[in-house]
This record gives sequence, C-alpha cells and structure tokens, in this order.
Amino acid sequence: MQKTAGIHHITAMVNDAQRNIDFYSGVLGLRLVKKTINFDRPEVYHLYFGNETGQPGTVITFFPWAKQLKGRIGLGQVGVTSYIIPTGSINFWENRLRKFGIEYTSSNRFGERYLKFTDPDGLQLELTERDEGPINTWNFGGVQAEYAIKGFGGAVLFSARPHKTTDVLENILGMEYIGQEDEFLRFKSEGHLGNTIDIQLNPSVRGLMGAGTVHHIAWRAKDEEDQLRWRSLLQDKGYYPTEIRDRNYFKAVYFHEEGGILFEIATDPPGFSVDEPVAALGKKLMLPSWLESKREEFEETLPPVEVRVLEGDK
Ligand code: ZN
Repeated sequence: MQKTAGIHHITAMVNDAQRNIDFYSGVLGLRLVKKTINFDRPEVYHLYFGNETGQPGTVITFFPWAKQLKGRIGLGQVGVTSYIIPTGSINFWENRLRKFGIEYTSSNRFGERYLKFTDPDGLQLELTERDEGPINTWNFGGVQAEYAIKGFGGAVLFSARPHKTTDVLENILGMEYIGQEDEFLRFKSEGHLGNTIDIQLNPSVRGLMGAGTVHHIAWRAKDEEDQLRWRSLLQDKGYYPTEIRDRNYFKAVYFHEEGGILFEIATDPPGFSVDEPVAALGKKLMLPSWLESKREEFEETLPPVEVRVLEGDK
C-alpha cells in the first residue's frame, strides 16, 4: 500500500501581505522561501514560509488579498495548523507570544502540551515540543535556531463526515490509526514532520471559505509516479481528482474528500531551489516562465512588501 510521509504544505487565505509576513517571519521566525503570484489569479501574491530550505512538511502558503471577505473556520476545513518546536523551548515561545501581545491557551492532547493562538487573520495555530524532525537552522529576528519552529507537527481536521475522512487517511494515504482521546481521533504518517493528523469529532459550525481560513492541505508524494498511482487509486475509489497541475515547485492534484476538506497530493521534487539558489530564496518576485513577459505589470500593481525584524526584536 502507498503511504504518504505526511503534510507537504498547507495553504490559507488572508487579507494583508505585509501583516502576513510580519507574523510568520517576524513573530514566528519562519523563512519566506518563495515570493510569487497565484498562477490562477496573477494579481494576488502567493507567499510561502518554511524552514531554511522550504522542505516539504514545513511550508505554509498564503494568498493575501485585501478585498476578500472574511471566512469562518468550521466543518469541511483544516481547523488548526500545528507546528513543532524543539524540546525545551516552550518557555521561550510563551515569552515570545507574550512579548508580541499574542494571547494563547495551553492544553494537553495525547500526552503533549499545546500552546494555541491565532494569527492576525484568525487562523488557528498551535505549538508543541517534539524531539523528532530536523532542526531548522534559520535564524531570524529574535528566534535563534535552537528555538526555531522545525515545521509542521500536524493538523486538526474539522471533518463534516469523520468516518469518511478516516477512510481516506487510512486506506488511501496509508496512515496508521493511533487512538481516540476525548473528541480527537489521531492518525500518524511515516515522515518526521507533519506526521500527526487529528480529526476533531465535534466542531460546531459549518466552515465558510474566506480570509482567515485554510484553503487546502497537501500530502506528500515521493515523485510524479507516486502521484499518478494515487490519482488512479482515487478514481478507482470514486473520487474526482483534478488533472495534474504544474505549480513550478511541485506538481499538484486536488480532490475533495467526503468530509468537505480540499485535499491535494503534491510531489516533493523539484522544490524551491528550482528557480533561485537556497541563499536567495524569497528575495525576488519569482514568476513561472509563462508569465515572465508580464513581470513589469505585476511589479507595478502588487503592493511592495518586505521581510523585516519587528520593533519588539530590535
Ligand atoms: Zn497546494
């Protein structure tokens, strides 16, 4: 049976590009690994944040668009995005959240402590300590590598039909069911990052897509062959996967699982250094070859943004 290593990336919608960069790079210390545009809507940025190389399992991506209406987190969505921090760094992060005036709560699940908070658009995030996963060597602002977020720990899915979603996680993506604790079902995949997926059984409202919500979650395929096998398997099982789309940094196939969440299967290669060296990731506006001729137009209309050290870290 085919098994995914875990989460490849998570994509969400927000209102303001600079505020988004200030939070994910400035506060959380993630690296902006790619500044490009939404290939389907070139007037909107597509920003990618991850570890120093933008390894699969570390990357959260955003479509910042000021005019977008606010969404509502609920059924049919990824409800919470979980990040892992090195063991022993939770006090650092509590102090850091307080320093930037970010309210958080602390709770326990499956023997792990989670700090939960929201980003400026209302996306729900949490941090938990774990030994596994490679150290992120990216230092930025007040976040040194010894405290840096390593990447995703996992995600909490707000499925409208938990048993249908369970079936996809286990029988299509090859995850292992770990058990139930209170209202959470836990599943594990084989990678060291983005490997812990919880389904919350009783979230309240129906989700509405818009700013402050996750658009989709992508699962890792080793290569294009692996992805093609999944696409056929999905068709055999009665799902309707899209054609394979070229996202420049990976190939993507999308499908709706029956719990209402948009899933994607994304290839690990070629990765973010395909069009600029690792040392320069995220600095320049990168365009796919088919949009390069319109560069001047995009550079004039997109709002200028920068990765900057925040006042509290100076
Ligand atoms: Zn995606």
